[in-house]
Amino acid sequence: MSKIWLSSPHMGGTEQDFVNHAFVKNWIAPLGPNVNGFEEDIQRFSGAKHAAALSSGTAAIHLALDILGVQQGDYVLVQSFTFCASVNPIEYLGGRPVFIDSENETWNMCPRALREALAHFEQKGELAKVKVILPVHLYGTPTNMSEIMLIANEYNIPVVEDAAESLGATINKKHTGTFGSFGVYSFNGNKIITTSGGGALISDNEEQIKLARKLATQARDDAPHYQHSMVGYNYRMSNICAGIGRGQMEVLSNRVDQRRANFERYQNIFKKIGWEVSYQIERAGVYSNRWLSAFYFDPEIFGEKFREDLRLFLDELNIESRPLWKPMHLQPVYEHCIYFGGDNNAERIFDYGLCLPSGSNLREDEWVRIEAGILAFSNKMS
Ligand SMILES: *Cc1c(COP(=O)(O)O)cnc(C)c1O
Repeated sequence: MSKIWLSSPHMGGTEQDFVNHAFVKNWIAPLGPNVNGFEEDIQRFSGAKHAAALSSGTAAIHLALDILGVQQGDYVLVQSFTFCASVNPIEYLGGRPVFIDSENETWNMCPRALREALAHFEQKGELAKVKVILPVHLYGTPTNMSEIMLIANEYNIPVVEDAAESLGATINKKHTGTFGSFGVYSFNGNKIITTSGGGALISDNEEQIKLARKLATQARDDAPHYQHSMVGYNYRMSNICAGIGRGQMEVLSNRVDQRRANFERYQNIFKKIGWEVSYQIERAGVYSNRWLSAFYFDPEIFGEKFREDLRLFLDELNIESRPLWKPMHLQPVYEHCIYFGGDNNAERIFDYGLCLPSGSNLREDEWVRIEAGILAFSNKMS
């Protein structure tokens, strides 16, 4: 039996035409018409005024933090429950990550814990060192942005939204990534659409996106020779990858529909077998892209070992599932950092949560196997 993957690339069909065009015109470089076209596609789709296509989502976060002035010893308040790429760029700049717990509803940055952190730095007289607030729209479900922005504006601290997993997700029809000073998208191979590897930085601030593009090309000044007045990076997206991205943008709305349909399908399976499974809530006006179908198996209902037993059971059937992101404050590399633990939701969700196969390209025969696997496990447990 072939392996059923958690989330694999799903081409729409026109990607190779864009890539071929790059070959025909010899635009085999980190610039060219596909890069420009892809940036316009992202702007049109997200509603952001400006976008820079980059080599990865991690690069986009790095540039956003650099442009917002994060330096040695500065603090960045970041959701602990996330992938390490949200946090590593803080370290690249010599900054200090400060981890914030998640709220129970969305599993994203808890506004109360964020307030606690800000009160702590205010009391220590270190508020000026808090340079950025960095929430994440995990698994494609939007963070409570109205609360987060209210707090950020009250303290006058810029927000960088890690929307790497939430392309296509909206709050009152406004796209995730467009609420803060900067938004970050990722087009890695497992994301809702992919360029094989890539990312984008979006903003309404034209000067800052221009600066991002400059920094991403070794900060070359406008001169016939190579002149540099700043330290830059090599972070631009290749015109080949951007070609894949242009084709993928044509099917992005379908991909959101397909991922949401997956999520509903799991909900129906659980209903049928009477499992009371919880998940990230869409508050009024919120539209998740349900990038990964992620569920929480409350130990009080299912028992301590249920999640891991289910994962191993599916693994035996060659069906890939995966525990949720391990919170950053528990990672050996970040254990020494400050953590505002709130209600300790991040650890609890990590302990009992599971991502199930979520590809937009899951076939009907694969769904039959997944459903049969879950039913068999349910029978075994009862
Ligand atoms: C994928 C991801 C990133 C980083 O994107 P890359 O393109 O892989 O560098 C950042 N944050 C989160 C939450 C992600 O899932």
